[in-house]
Amino acid sequence: MNKPTVVSGIRPTGYLHLGNYFGAVRNFVRMQENFNCFFFIADIHSLTTHPTPGDLQSGVKQVLAEYLACGIDPEKATIFIQSDVPEVCELYAFLNMNAYLGELERTTSFKDKARLQPDNVNAGLLTYPVLMASDIIIHKANFVPVGKDQEQNLEMARKFAKRFNRMYRKEVFPIPQPYTFDGKDMIKVPGLDGSGKMGKSEGNAINLFDDPKDIRKKVMRAVSDSGPTEMNQKKPEAIQNLFSLMEIVSTSDTVTHFNDLYNKCYVRYGDLKKQLAEDIIAYTAPIRDRIINILEDDTYLAKVAKMGAEKAKESALETLNEVKNLIGFKKLF
Ligand code: AMP
Repeated sequence: MNKPTVVSGIRPTGYLHLGNYFGAVRNFVRMQENFNCFFFIADIHSLTTHPTPGDLQSGVKQVLAEYLACGIDPEKATIFIQSDVPEVCELYAFLNMNAYLGELERTTSFKDKARLQPDNVNAGLLTYPVLMASDIIIHKANFVPVGKDQEQNLEMARKFAKRFNRMYRKEVFPIPQPYTFDGKDMIKVPGLDGSGKMGKSEGNAINLFDDPKDIRKKVMRAVSDSGPTEMNQKKPEAIQNLFSLMEIVSTSDTVTHFNDLYNKCYVRYGDLKKQLAEDIIAYTAPIRDRIINILEDDTYLAKVAKMGAEKAKESALETLNEVKNLIGFKKLF
């Protein structure tokens, strides 16, 4: 029996942070055992922020090394660089013809990004969910393991896949489902600045590549407050965020311990942050060591990228030929 197909990617716009890891990459590693996986580095998506050629190149190399260091195995999963498979742009062009301005303008990710970079609200930002849909459906994905921040974009991918199938009266594309483990909700990793999610452009992230000293510094500086004044008081967002991070990286005993202290108004945020920093370091330090080693091996990185590009191209071309045929691009001469 064929294994279900999984597709997901990350933009090479900086180091991978804990949000990328717990929202995406850790799930990629778990899924590669039982699914037909395509994990890519979304370098075309990253052009919406206008990186320099040098930054783009080093970002791609960094994420490739980070994928491998986290445990994605190129023998089990197809790891590739998005721009090595330009077929995705051809499908993106076709999907754009049936993507409407109103629905694209309404997506939260577009509104957020337009707010973050008001001087650069380009068409690539607007059609970001269309390119993302193309990434996913070109491999006929059944599942997409992403964080909660991508929920709406994934909904758009589902919509575009359905729309195409309906328009050409054929179930070309499976409708991709969000994938989460153990019946849990899609995860949102909060940042250290007291509100919202951890993100590269938010400046509130802990990276897998940060050294332990930096992690301690960042966590100790995280936004908190002067502490609870009443027993069992509801946690304000900044404090809830610290506890949410702890739930992700610490043992349940540690979480219960600090929750009890909070509820009895005995909590000392200095102690909580120290524990949180050490638990984050326990997770990231071995990954960081592996990243450093892999980054030194250009031959290995080139081999992985080439192997991935070949496999991804084969899969993409097959779908694209089917799509072009349906649209009516038949060879006349
Ligand atoms: P990006 O860095 O926006 O390219 O995101 C790459 C992947 O990481 C996507 O699957 C996101 O859902 C996931 N991700 C990024 N930030 C977070 C976060 N704070 N919480 C959960 N998942 C995240």
